[in-house]
Amino acid sequence: MTEDELGELREEIGRVTVEMAKLFVRRAQISSDIGRAKKGLGMGITDESREEQLRGAVLGACRKEFGGSAGDPAPQEAAVSRFLNFLLDESTTIQSQHRGDGKGRPTHLSVFQAAKRLEEEEGRQIIHMEVGEPDYMPPDSVATALSESYGRGHIRYEGPRGVPALLDALAEYGSKRFGASIGPGNIAVTPGGRFAVFAAMSSLLGPGDEVITVEPAWPAYRDCAAHAGARVRAVQASLEGGWMPSIQDIQDAVGPSTKMVILNYPNNPTGAVLRPDIMDGIMEVASDRGIYVLGDEIYSEYVRGSKPWRSVASYGYQNAIAVQSFSKSHAMTGLRIGYAVADGHVIDGIASLLSLCMTSVPAPVQRAALSAVGQDVSGNARTISERLDVIASEARKMGMEYAEPEGAMYLFARVGTDGARLAERLLSEHGVAVAPGSGFGENYRDYIRISAAREDANRLIEGMNRLKSMLGGGHT
Ligand code: PMP
Repeated sequence: MTEDELGELREEIGRVTVEMAKLFVRRAQISSDIGRAKKGLGMGITDESREEQLRGAVLGACRKEFGGSAGDPAPQEAAVSRFLNFLLDESTTIQSQHRGDGKGRPTHLSVFQAAKRLEEEEGRQIIHMEVGEPDYMPPDSVATALSESYGRGHIRYEGPRGVPALLDALAEYGSKRFGASIGPGNIAVTPGGRFAVFAAMSSLLGPGDEVITVEPAWPAYRDCAAHAGARVRAVQASLEGGWMPSIQDIQDAVGPSTKMVILNYPNNPTGAVLRPDIMDGIMEVASDRGIYVLGDEIYSEYVRGSKPWRSVASYGYQNAIAVQSFSKSHAMTGLRIGYAVADGHVIDGIASLLSLCMTSVPAPVQRAALSAVGQDVSGNARTISERLDVIASEARKMGMEYAEPEGAMYLFARVGTDGARLAERLLSEHGVAVAPGSGFGENYRDYIRISAAREDANRLIEGMNRLKSMLGGGHT
């Protein structure tokens, strides 16, 4: 190519860029007008079915221009899809500015913070049925390991993936527990499961990529996706369907820029455990397309009864990531320790982010976790299961609709009224904190999540009674 020809190309790219910039500004203006209109009409910001239409129109135009189909996309499709996601994100940002509430929907954490304020500033006694933080203690070995750490000199920096003894212990434990072949190189120790989720998503997802979640869902998946510039395609599960996602819905949500599917079973907030045949189907959809499957399995020690539970790690799929934590299983929330199990390339990504952010997980905490690996924590699961029975029996008497939790620590109930307003009134007037359903997805505004983690049976009954008296004996 001659210099003249290069000059012509540069002029052309300049013209196209200016044209795109003008269109971009015009689109932002329209988006702003739409945002104002939606606010006036009392509508939410995101409308997934509308996004779906737009996606169909854009990909349809792309296929007309470049050929290809959904099953066999043209190479241009992934770029077009990423660009569209970028535009959709822009719209969300612009429209959120009209509200000031784009990110501010009430969640279990905002209720927890409000409850804490009432306790600290007004000296009130709150019944905590909002957070998944156990009130029981970690194994005794944890206290010993923490206090011995100092004398043993475990007070220095460690490697970013975790101390070798802990990696070995987790690999051995994980291989047995998860039915997988796990080596120490398949593990990254992280400050809680939350960081493992964040680091896996941040290192594997980029702007315009898509991630499929099953709603209702723990809100951090959406927040982590937004942080990575990725777009969430939420597949809806329903109470009527026992909170099971449909394989077809997941298949339909897969597009040219889908990079990850997140599965969280036992589930927060519904307590559902994924049916094995559905899990097989989802793993097949994902592996056909090389899509990452992030299994947030931090409630795996809280499976009730004889429900079969399976780790994503057990499939031997190289793009599966299992996230585990000591927070719930061993009641070690404040120690902040969890881990990811995955192929070396994923572990490297997580470790480099961890190294960048915090060098290593604190050495004494890793020793505490080491002492706890493999200890029998079934008593914790029994405690939670009994408490869930108590909550469920009260909820049943009140005529609430819910699916019997099969695991985790929560009961997710339809209350027939706005859950956020209910949670607010229940806290301020009756001193009981519950989590509003809206925190887990736009479609769950008339739900609340009731946690069995923090209070004993008597206090749970008291909390449920106060809820009942507030609802006037019924829930309409
Ligand atoms: N995943 C889910 C589904 C959760 O509910 C939580 C905490 N509530 C976490 C991950 C993170 O837990 P941690 O960081 O304490 O391990």
